[in-house]
Amino acid sequence: MKIKNLFHQHTVFSFEVFPPKKTTPIETVYDTLEALQDLKPDFISVTLGAGGSGNGENTLAIARRLRENYGITPMAHLPCIHYTKEQIDRILAQFQENGIENILALRGDRVEGVKPANDFIHAAELVTYIRERGDFDIAGACYPECHPEAANLDTDIRYLKEKVDAGASHLITQLFFENNTFYDFRYRAARAGIHVPIEAGIMPVTNRKQIERMVTTCGASLPRKFTKIVQRFENNPEALRDAGIAYAIDQIVDLLTDGVDGIHLYTMNNPYVARKITEAVSGILKAAPLC
Ligand code: FAD
Repeated sequence: MKIKNLFHQHTVFSFEVFPPKKTTPIETVYDTLEALQDLKPDFISVTLGAGGSGNGENTLAIARRLRENYGITPMAHLPCIHYTKEQIDRILAQFQENGIENILALRGDRVEGVKPANDFIHAAELVTYIRERGDFDIAGACYPECHPEAANLDTDIRYLKEKVDAGASHLITQLFFENNTFYDFRYRAARAGIHVPIEAGIMPVTNRKQIERMVTTCGASLPRKFTKIVQRFENNPEALRDAGIAYAIDQIVDLLTDGVDGIHLYTMNNPYVARKITEAVSGILKAAPLC
């Protein structure tokens, strides 16, 4: 199933999971997948760590399991800066052999001490490369608050348009906590000629460590309503978790009401949180307008 076709049918609802650390057996994530499959998302995307140290074996194993054991459409992330063309060829061949037909084509984050392979500089080059090599559906990443390395949002959107023109059939956003940021971005993207579906990436924040990591790694701005919650409940993990879930639900309801193309939930491999949110929004999701 090519994910791009889903957007014509209904508002898409999808999850992201990540493979366990290299030192942890892959089986540890299977319980999470088992629990997530019950929630019947349209697809589940599987991250692939930047750095090029592996060849995406765990990402492939999880994507395969999703497809073969649970009948869920997988999307494999593929960050390219640390891979040579030969390595990408091998990964694509494995995806093809295992029926993985949806790829999130990424540049990948720079990793201290790891040199880029220099075969791919930007994600758009990977999009073109994949398109020329197989019948894959290719998605791209986008940044409502501007990618941290871009000079400004207009420049970032200009390059995003190149990625879409290269063949990205839909986009998934970086997480954000203020929906107006997303609406403004979507408007500016459309004005720049980007008309592919854009899924909103929502991260339910349920613990303090996660918040600190997000601010440092993706530079997400935190609205006052959000920081108040964190300050009030930081020493009460259960209350912080429940407030984080409620905040994400509030964001999703507003996005669905507005006719968003899809919601991509960063589950952080936490099925409890994914379940709470899915149960709260599923009725609204079914009734959401297709714009
Ligand atoms: P690009 O689209 O290449 O953009 C990167 C920067 O280059 C931007 O500033 C852009 O404006 C600029 N740019 C683009 N084209 C040009 C050009 N022609 N000339 C000059 N500048 C240009 N990382 C991982 O390692 N693994 C993952 O699994 C992963 N999953 C992700 C999932 C999502 C939904 C998102 C939003 C991000 C994910 N990332 C992942 C992080 C991502 O790899 C980083 O944010 C990375 O820094 C940028 O990747 P990109 O694909 O958006 O890059």
